[in-house]
Amino acid sequence: MVQNKIDLGFFPTPVQYLNRLSQEFPDYSIYIKRDDNTGLASGGNKTRKLEYLLKQALDEQCNAVITAGAQQSNHCRQTAAACAMIGLECHLLLGGNEPTKYDGNLLLCKMLGATISFTGENRKGETIADYKKSLETKKRKCFVIPYGGSNITGALGFVNAVKELKAQLIGNNLQIDYIFFASSSGGMQAGLMLGLELYGLNTKLVPINIDKSETNGIPLEEVVANILNDGAKLLNSSKNYGPHNIPLNKDYDSAGYGVVTDNERYSIKELAVKEGILLDPVYTGRAFYGMLDCLQNKRIKTNSNVLFWHTGGLPAIFKYAEEIV
Ligand SMILES: *Cc1c(COP(=O)(O)O)cnc(C)c1O
Repeated sequence: MVQNKIDLGFFPTPVQYLNRLSQEFPDYSIYIKRDDNTGLASGGNKTRKLEYLLKQALDEQCNAVITAGAQQSNHCRQTAAACAMIGLECHLLLGGNEPTKYDGNLLLCKMLGATISFTGENRKGETIADYKKSLETKKRKCFVIPYGGSNITGALGFVNAVKELKAQLIGNNLQIDYIFFASSSGGMQAGLMLGLELYGLNTKLVPINIDKSETNGIPLEEVVANILNDGAKLLNSSKNYGPHNIPLNKDYDSAGYGVVTDNERYSIKELAVKEGILLDPVYTGRAFYGMLDCLQNKRIKTNSNVLFWHTGGLPAIFKYAEEIV
C-alpha cells in the first residue's frame, strides 16, 4: 500500500535541531522537519501526496490532471511541476479573477505550463465536475485530484512520512513528544494520524487550523475523520472515526484564510533571523506562531521535545511581500 508510488521529490527530508530558538525556551528542545525542501519547484508537503495520486493517474492511463485551489495554492504549483515531470496535462481551477500581474505560486503555475481557469468565489474545486465533462468532450482521460490532494490516496504520502520520520528518530536516538503543523485540507493530518498508529510512534499531534471556512460544507474534523475511515478500510481495521476523535487547535485562525496578522509577521521574522529558515505567510507562519505561543505559555508539558513540520509555501512570500515586512 505505501509502496504504490512514483518518485517525485527528495526524501528523506532533513530533521534539524533549532539551536538558537531552543535557547529561548529552556523548557523545550525544538526540532524541524524540512518538507519545504521536497523538490517540485520549491518544495512543500503536497509532493508526498502527489507521489501516490499521480501513480494512480498513470495506472489509470489518464493524460490530463485537474485540481483546484486558491491563486497562491502550493498544492496547485506542485501538481503543475509534477505533471511537467511525468508529461501529463495539468489543468488548474483557481479562485478569484485573473489578476493583471502573475506572481508567487500563480506565476510558477504558469511557468510550469499549467492551463489555468479562474473560478471566482469557488476555490475548493466546486466546479471540477463540470470542467472534467468539458475536457472529456476533447478526448482527454481526466484524473481529478480533490482540493489539497486530500483523500486517502494522497494521505498515504503522510503514512509513509511517519515511517520516514521514525527511522530518522531511531537513527538519532531521539524521542519527539509533540508535532506541530499547519492543517488545512486535512490530508496531511489524516496521513500522520494513520501513520502514528500503524508505526507505533508515541507522539502527540498538535494540528493548527489555518482556514476557518468549511470545504464544500464539511468542517475539517469531519473531512479528516472521513479520510481516516477510508484508511481503516484499506488496512482492514474495524476502527471507526468521528469528528470528536480529531485533534484540531483553532486558536489562531480567526483572521481568516490568507490574511496576514501580527502573529504571522512575528513568527516569520523570528525563525528567519534566529535560524535562517523561511516560513510562508498563509500556512507555516500561522502554525509556527501557534507553536511559539504554546511554548511561551507552557500549554504543553515542559522538558519535552517538540517538532515543527515545515510544510513549505515559500513562493507565497513574494505575493505577500508588503504584508510581511
Ligand atoms: C497544503 C498546505 C498545508 C496543509 O496541508 P493539508 O494536507 O492541506 O492540511 C500546510 N502548509 C502548506 C505550506 C501547504 O501548502
